[in-house]
Amino acid sequence: MLALEGVRKSFGDVEVLHGIDLTVHRGEVVAILGPSGSGKTTLLRCANFLERADAGTLALGGERFDLAHATKREVAAVRKKTAFVFQNYNLFRNRTVLGNVTEGLIVARKMPRAQAEKIARDCLERVGMGDRADAYPIQLSGGQQQRVAIARAMATDPEIIYFDEPTSALDPELTIEVLGSMRRLAEDGMTMLVVTHEMGFARNVADRVVFMEGGSVVAAAPSAEFFEHPDNDRVRAFLRTVG
Ligand code: ATP
Repeated sequence: MLALEGVRKSFGDVEVLHGIDLTVHRGEVVAILGPSGSGKTTLLRCANFLERADAGTLALGGERFDLAHATKREVAAVRKKTAFVFQNYNLFRNRTVLGNVTEGLIVARKMPRAQAEKIARDCLERVGMGDRADAYPIQLSGGQQQRVAIARAMATDPEIIYFDEPTSALDPELTIEVLGSMRRLAEDGMTMLVVTHEMGFARNVADRVVFMEGGSVVAAAPSAEFFEHPDNDRVRAFLRTVG
C-alpha cells in the first residue's frame, strides 16, 4: 500500500501542489487525470524524490518517509521499492535491450548476471519484446522502447510502478501496444499509479481515478463512477473537453 499525505511543492513563489493526499492499495491501478499544469507530474516526481517536496509524507511497504527531509539512505530505500516509467522512455542508448533491463539488477541490486538475464528475458517476453533482446534502442520504435522501459520497471519487482504520461510521445498505433502491455501488467496484479491523458485506459483498466486541478485533488472515485456519474462540475467540464 502507498499513501501520500499533505504533499506540498512550490517552484519559486508559486505553490503547484497544495497538500495532496492520495492512497493506492496493493494491486490497485490508479489513474491521475487533470488539465495541463495541474501538478500531476510534479506529484509523481515528489513521490519518488525526483523532485523534493516542501512538505508531506509517503507511507510505503510498512515504512514512513518524510518527503521534504528524507536522507540519502531513505531516498535509496524508496527508489528500491518503486519504479518509474517516463514519457520519453529514458533508455540507455549505448546498451542493448537486455542490457537496459539487467543494468539496475546487476548494478543497484548486485544480482549475478545469469540470474538478472533470466529475469530480464522473462519480463521482455511479457511485453512482447523477447525477440529484440540484442537490439539497441535506436533500432526500435517509440512504442517498443516504452515496452522495454516497462520490462525494466517490472524486472526490479517493485511495490508500485509510477507511469508519467507513458504514451504521450507516441502515435495512436504505438499507444495501443504500450497500453496493452500496461493492461497485462495490471491483470497480473501490479500496483500502478498512472498519470495519463488516455481516457480509455483510465476508464477500462484503472480501478480508481484521481482528478487534479490547480494543484489540488478535486475528485476521486472508482473509475466507472467517475466516468458514468461525475458528481463534480469541474470533472464534468473536463470530461466534455476530452470526450
Ligand atoms: P501536463 O499534463 O501538461 O504534463 P501536469 O499536470 O503534469 O501537466 P506539472 O508538470 O506537474 O503539471 O506542472 C505543474 C505546474 O508546475 C505548472 O504550472 C508547471 O509550469 C510548474 N512546473 C513544473 N515543473 C517546474 C519546474 N521545474 N520549475 C518551475 N515550474 C515548474
